[in-house]
Amino acid sequence: MPGAIFLDRDGVLCENRATYVKAWQEFDWIPEAREALSIFARLQMPVVIVTNQSAINRRLTTFESVHSLHRRMRRAIRDAGGRVDAIYVCPHRPEEGCACRKPGLLLFRRAATELGFEFARSYLIGDSLSDLQAGWNLNLEVILVRTGLGEETASRLDGAAGRVHIVRDVLEAARWIETASRQENERGHSFAEPAISASPGGDVL
Ligand SMILES: [Zn+2]
Repeated sequence: MPGAIFLDRDGVLCENRATYVKAWQEFDWIPEAREALSIFARLQMPVVIVTNQSAINRRLTTFESVHSLHRRMRRAIRDAGGRVDAIYVCPHRPEEGCACRKPGLLLFRRAATELGFEFARSYLIGDSLSDLQAGWNLNLEVILVRTGLGEETASRLDGAAGRVHIVRDVLEAARWIETASRQENERGHSFAEPAISASPGGDVL
């Protein structure tokens, strides 16, 4: 049984903003993110976005605005041939100590229960350490993009660098996963390393 593809939103699909991405007008696509989503849509795996949106509980925006933004985002993704199966949002500020804010695992577990997949053979794509930590704690295949906060995160990995695949952006991640899942299908269900790997510079070798 295949797992899922977990995506972070800000820094992976759209550019981060110091003042938060609160409305569709503030949503700037990372170049080629929609092409990446069209590749994910061809794989037999749920595509799930898990995103920390503390701007909600900072009262800078509302759940309704975030949902409205996500409706527009999903429409644009569909128009580009992509698919998002579910979006999970943590509205809390860090100091609230909730269980859903990444690296908390609550939203990941809820997704697995609600969509009916297992974490084995699942992937996580993120740009911040909190994304990576959640992925490591769930034993996912963890992919760090250099977009968003990714460059800075990559410089802070220290000894953890071997536990993460570093790629240029979500499109390179999509191609990597596509290759990995094809090889996995060809070899039965042993977990196979993809034939391509990313160099520290992010180039495909
Ligand atoms: Zn939360």
